[in-house]
Amino acid sequence: RCGYVAIVGRPNVGKSTLLNHILGQKLAITSRKPQTTRHTLLGIKTEGETQAIYVDTPGLHKENEKALNRFMNKSATQALRDVDVVLFVVDRTRWTDEDQMVLEKVRYVTCPVLLVVNKVDRMDDKQELLPHLEWLAQQLSSAEVVPVSALQGRNIEELEKLVAERL
Ligand code: GDP
Ligand code: MG
Repeated sequence: RCGYVAIVGRPNVGKSTLLNHILGQKLAITSRKPQTTRHTLLGIKTEGETQAIYVDTPGLHKENEKALNRFMNKSATQALRDVDVVLFVVDRTRWTDEDQMVLEKVRYVTCPVLLVVNKVDRMDDKQELLPHLEWLAQQLSSAEVVPVSALQGRNIEELEKLVAERL
């Protein structure tokens, strides 16, 4: 099995951290500062009979006047074409206008979508995952919800398994 896996989401949700963890090496630059990833990066993970080509995109965000932002939005949107699986990465508790914007694009893709809820390491017991997670999954034709910590590597193997099943 072989295919392309797009990693999309607003800036700072942990897309590059996730890719680095999957690949086991620092390919993508990660940073607290949004918009650290300026170009689309490809990372290939081969395991047994499965080869997944991950596409880390510059975050989709509100367009402003800057040409760079327009360029980054364009390449992020293009990453959604011709892929086999989409990982829609969101932060475990925070939902913003920019997430909404990404949702508007992701809901039109025809391939399977996995809703990756990142940064669960930051949660204490009382905190809830995004309250409208169920609604969100429904918006994506009942996308599977996968809680992970890209930083700590929690549940990433499970995520890779779910990806492999969809390639
Ligand atoms: P991107 O803009 O979506 O590519 O986000 P990055 O991968 O650059 O990460 C943005 C920030 O969130 C960095 O400071 C990361 O260290 C942090 N981060 C990413 N994943 C996690 C996680 O699972 N847990 C925590 N606590 N922080 C994370
Ligand atoms: Mg990044």
